[in-house]
Amino acid sequence: MQDLRNKRALVTGGAGFLGSHLCERLLADGQEVLCVDNFFTGNKRNVQHLVADTNFELLRHDVTFSLFVEVDEIYNFACPASPVQYQHDPVQTTKTSVHGAINMLGLAKRLDARILQASTSEVYGDPHEHPQREEYWGHVNPVGIRSCYDEGKRCAETLFFDYHRQHGLSIKVARIFNTYGPRMDPNDGRVVSNFVVAALRGEPLVLYGEGKQTRAFCYVDDLIEGTVRLMRSPCEVTGPINLGNPVEATVAELAEIVLELTGSKSELQVAELPSDDPVRRCPDTRRARETLDWEPATSLKDGLAKTISYFDELLQRGAA
Ligand code: NAD
Ligand code: UDP
Repeated sequence: MQDLRNKRALVTGGAGFLGSHLCERLLADGQEVLCVDNFFTGNKRNVQHLVADTNFELLRHDVTFSLFVEVDEIYNFACPASPVQYQHDPVQTTKTSVHGAINMLGLAKRLDARILQASTSEVYGDPHEHPQREEYWGHVNPVGIRSCYDEGKRCAETLFFDYHRQHGLSIKVARIFNTYGPRMDPNDGRVVSNFVVAALRGEPLVLYGEGKQTRAFCYVDDLIEGTVRLMRSPCEVTGPINLGNPVEATVAELAEIVLELTGSKSELQVAELPSDDPVRRCPDTRRARETLDWEPATSLKDGLAKTISYFDELLQRGAA
């Protein structure tokens, strides 16, 4: 068993949805955590409960600028992930992925620290192969409204593998598929938060493109478990590795489950499918099973029930 005490981890984007759960997990494992965030889409409230822990430190910083700190490993999670948010300032999104990766890789090189990249299923674009295996190179529009995110993340992967080949850096690349759970931003426009909040408020659930497109939804605790397993895996395991729940559902099916679990009488409405919105997405997780002995343990209904409780409490408090 690896001794993790005194192992200092830097989590960029640590005040975001996934980053805050990751900080919590690393602290619970006995690690020291430096959480770095510019609070663009994240929030101090997400890590407020960690601030009293002497192993936790919070620093406001934008990863597009150099950072000089001393750590043993780096989880690079800084980047808006919701399409609405990453399209709000697309130039900054690309800068965050590309300049952020360069800065964090430079830091890792100076410190000889291991570094993990939060990449994404969006590197496959609107895929022509199904389910998506890591060997698939993708079908990505380089000039569309999603390109700032997709191409930024693809370039970050290139940088990770070149630092590995050129400088011998220990790298890990996780391709994360749609993940949901408590601490998602209720207003970030992602489908799970949108549907749950609308159902709880009795407002319409809006199905873009009639909800025929598919996604595969992973509960946050499962994703965090896969992420730390990848970071702690042997040096030769670089990835890329898909991390997601290989259970495909249409967006319309998701809406029906949310209505059933909330008991809501909200209507379903339809709207146009945004441009370049992938039609089918589902991970092939064989590599994660075989290399990390990892697979998601939480069913969609169980994960949604926990997420609904979270948003329900938030709405009751008037915090959303
Ligand atoms: P999020 O928006 O909740 O978190 C991103 C965090 O990064 C926020 O706290 C934000 O303030 C911070 N940030 C953004 N730009 C920054 C910058 N320039 N400098 C410092 N901090 C910055 O999103 P999330 O869902 O927690 O996603 C976290 C990471 O995981 C992202 O890199 C995202 O691309 C990746 N990912 C997430 C999903 C998912 O379904 N949640 C899927 C694929 C990939
Ligand atoms: N979507 C939807 N209604 C919403 C929000 C999203 O139908 O209120 C659709 C969206 O068009 C996409 C899918 O749900 O096809 C997942 O969207 P999300 O923004 O969560 O993530 P994506 O996988 O597209 O990055």
